[in-house]
Amino acid sequence: MDNCIFCKIGRREIPKEFTFEDEDIMVFPDINPVKPIHLLIIPKTHIKEFHALDNPVLFEKLGKVILQMIVKMELQTKGYRVVINGGGAQVVDHLHIHLMGPIAKAASV
Ligand code: AMP
Ligand code: ZN
Repeated sequence: MDNCIFCKIGRREIPKEFTFEDEDIMVFPDINPVKPIHLLIIPKTHIKEFHALDNPVLFEKLGKVILQMIVKMELQTKGYRVVINGGGAQVVDHLHIHLMGPIAKAASV
């Protein structure tokens, strides 16, 4: 998509240091982090939102990358949250998964 910020990042039209990248998925820090670690895990292909994700192979790959990033960021025992905003709750209309941490048990945000 021409005007999509995450597509532009994926096409390298906007410089961004990736935490992880393969042919299908990119991961980089959220520009406005709400926790010390706040990554966005994003398919490179333009999928408007979670509900539009109809590719089971990509679904599984995204899951694997989420798990890898939890380990890479050493969040397994520090508390983490995985969030997808969709159905109009999202600001950016290109599927992305938030991984945030550390998060204490009692924290609400
Ligand atoms: P959402 O409300 O789930 O659509 O969240 C969109 C997220 O994308 C927000 O947390 C933004 O801070 C983040 N974001 C928007 N533009 C960029 C960017 N250029 N680089 C990194 N994160 C971004
Ligand atoms: Zn896009």
